[in-house]
Amino acid sequence: MQLRKLESYGFKSFADKVELDFDMGVTAIVGPNGSGKSNITDAIRWALGEQNIRNLRGVKTEDVIFSGSSNKRASGVAEVSLIFDNSDGVLPLEYQEVVVTRRIFRSGESEFYINKVACRLKDIHQLFFDTGLGKDAMSVISQNKVDQILNSRPEERRAFFEEVAGITKYRTRQKDSIRKLTDTEQNILRVTDILNELE
Ligand code: ATP
Repeated sequence: MQLRKLESYGFKSFADKVELDFDMGVTAIVGPNGSGKSNITDAIRWALGEQNIRNLRGVKTEDVIFSGSSNKRASGVAEVSLIFDNSDGVLPLEYQEVVVTRRIFRSGESEFYINKVACRLKDIHQLFFDTGLGKDAMSVISQNKVDQILNSRPEERRAFFEEVAGITKYRTRQKDSIRKLTDTEQNILRVTDILNELE
């Protein structure tokens, strides 16, 4: 699996449509301070399902939408698409090319798509579990991430290792199962109460 292309419009400083091709080998993005280099990695993370706006250097959810400049009005919508070459089948879909899209409107409404089919955020997270490219994976290391890892608490550091080792998927499934078991226990209790009342 390889990230081949990024397409975006209305995301942070990129008011107009931007298309970036990532060829084989190393791609270096250079530019003056404040020109938007880090906004590109923010766009990648955001499209991969990052929900914590602080990890995208913002405060409010709509901070990812172009907020206007002296000669351009603010955008009402931001969209980022990541195009992956999946010819090695690492992503569990039977497509050679996989396109993941995230869109947000200033109203706060969010949309997610996999190959142009609407999906849930959870589906995006699950698609990238154990591929090394999830939102929490170490494939995107931001400027403060190294300090953050070094200064993290032991349990936070363990979470990093678990993601890299591919255990996160099972932890998430375990949490879901425990929640379902608790709900079922509650339901059984209610049914037992009702039965007792009827007897
Ligand atoms: P440096 O080299 O200093 O790290 P950089 O090239 O990585 O800089 P970024 O941090 O990606 O630059 O971009 C910062 C710029 O993005 C700032 O000029 C900021 O005003 C602009 N920006 C961030 N969010 C938005 C937004 N929602 N709308 C418009 N511009 C934005």
